[in-house]
Amino acid sequence: MNIVFFGAPGVGKGTQAEILARHLAIPHISTGAIFRAAVAAAKPLGLEAKRYMDDGLLVPDELTTAIALDALSEPDCAAGFILDGYPRNRAQAEALAAALNAGGREIDHVVYLTAPIDELVERMLKRGRRDDTEEVIRTRFDVYQQETAPVLDYYREAGMVTEVNGVGEIEQVQQRILDALQRTA
Ligand code: AMP
Repeated sequence: MNIVFFGAPGVGKGTQAEILARHLAIPHISTGAIFRAAVAAAKPLGLEAKRYMDDGLLVPDELTTAIALDALSEPDCAAGFILDGYPRNRAQAEALAAALNAGGREIDHVVYLTAPIDELVERMLKRGRRDDTEEVIRTRFDVYQQETAPVLDYYREAGMVTEVNGVGEIEQVQQRILDALQRTA
């Protein structure tokens, strides 16, 4: 099953994607996590990405699409994958669709996790990541609204979106995701 997790910053995409990936025994690919690992290892990729991440801006498409498609080309993704945090704009969504199509693959589900914005800000401030300061959080929401949210319309038009309420206990939200995937299978 090829799944994209979609939703605003702080909605729990990473947590839920990781649990579902383990359950389905398919890789969880988070572009943010790949960038953070590259930053921690002081790799050139990390140094470049950090300039954008620290300000809550999108890392340029060229770099981000290269790492996402690279991960998707690994043999362990042949039986399915969960993408988390990619695509984040229309150009990335189109690059993803083209690359998957070229390999005879497609996205089966876009899981759209939702929560009220107040709850999201609170969760992110608690998370305490280095890019979770108030000012950077504000920028990340602006970027989400302007660049990422329109991608949802693109997937909605294609009838791929499954909306799931992201408010509640981790296990409860995971169960909603499993139920939703079963319903739309
Ligand atoms: P995340 O862990 O998904 O919140 O990502 C953390 C940061 O990594 C984002 O704020 C961006 O700076 C960068 N990033 C992650 N995924 C992407 C993407 N698909 N396009 C551009 N930048 C990204």
